[in-house]
Amino acid sequence: MRSVTEHQAAINALVTSRPETEARLAAAAGRPLARDVIATRALPGFENSAMDGYAVRVEDLAGATAEKPVTLPVAEDIPAGRTDGPPLAPRTAHRIMTGAAVPAGADAVVPVELTDAGTSTVAIRSCPTLGQHVRRAGEDISAGEVALRRGQVLGAPQLALLASLGYATAPVIPPIRTIVLSTGSELVAPGQPLRRGEIYESNGIMIATAVREAGGEAAQLRFVSDDPTEFLQTLRDRAPEADLIITSGGVSAGAYEVVKDSLTEHGIEFLKVAMQPGMPQGCGFFEGTPIVTLPGNPVSALVSFEVFIRPALRRAMALPAPERPRTTARLTEPVTSPRGKRQFRRGVLDRQTGTVKPIGPPASHHLRWLASANCLVDVDEDVTALRTGDTVTVWDLDSC
Ligand code: AMP
Ligand code: MG
Repeated sequence: MRSVTEHQAAINALVTSRPETEARLAAAAGRPLARDVIATRALPGFENSAMDGYAVRVEDLAGATAEKPVTLPVAEDIPAGRTDGPPLAPRTAHRIMTGAAVPAGADAVVPVELTDAGTSTVAIRSCPTLGQHVRRAGEDISAGEVALRRGQVLGAPQLALLASLGYATAPVIPPIRTIVLSTGSELVAPGQPLRRGEIYESNGIMIATAVREAGGEAAQLRFVSDDPTEFLQTLRDRAPEADLIITSGGVSAGAYEVVKDSLTEHGIEFLKVAMQPGMPQGCGFFEGTPIVTLPGNPVSALVSFEVFIRPALRRAMALPAPERPRTTARLTEPVTSPRGKRQFRRGVLDRQTGTVKPIGPPASHHLRWLASANCLVDVDEDVTALRTGDTVTVWDLDSC
């Protein structure tokens, strides 16, 4: 049997990064930068007004007060976006709006609230200081500075900074494109009627969503029956569009194990990993495309995804924190664990008290408990019993 750590290494080696691409900003959201981005221009790009008001020369307003306002003729109106830049002559004012270029000759802006808001002449009740309410060119960033660092994930403010600098695209590490294929002759699409012996297919939506939550792309394929011809044909049709194939079901020790039966001769390795749940696993290359074959039981499938695929995907996409954050907590009840297997129990972690309550049985088909857990309780291979109050390692599934 292979250890969890050994199988993690095998999957890590399988999933490799795609070359960097130049992505349009909307498509770059959530991706890490492949290179440093240099500001090719300053921000602000030109001196502009921080207020709606009047562009003035400070010396023209010496002594202006509420009791003795200074009145100046208004020579020009400068809304944001006016590009001709009329200069300010001495002893005149230009009415100016927020974001409009401050005219040559002006050295301050008086907010409209400190004036009578006139349009042909303006009475100004206060003398500004030099540079008041003027945003200097380059005060945010100057040309030539590093705007964003390689590896930084592009979220809302980073994308806004790139757009402000005039970039329409960004160099990013692209997402890993996965195809998700469930197998099983008992499977029926949700929403359709069920006959005795049939169940609704749930691994497809689960694994595809988990891939997307990990920052990857997922195409959830229509599930296939336990028929090798249908299974192989679907893989052949869709593998060329994928960086990673993830299947579920058909890998254990029974008969009709479609994944194992069809892929063994393609060189894919099927093995047992010393863990519970999730013992039967497989991985390799299907006609050149990396493939990971998960067991079909829903809890086994998602726990295996968490333990093996999620960290490998995030690493290959250069995303931060490829591993879930781990913490320790005290058990609120005892647990038992099989000797020689690393056990991942579902749990509810209470961060306030530092305790964890294991929920649901260790069996691998209890989706309800999986859906109410916020952590995995990680019990070492050589531990067979833990008591209430014992300290355990937990994987925090709520944080990235
Ligand atoms: P298998 O690994 O194919 O032997 O399946 C193990 C168990 O998981 C069986 O009870 C299957 O019915 C169930 N199962 C397999 N695939 C799925 C799926 N896509 N959705 C829900 N249950 C599944
Ligand atoms: Mg099956």
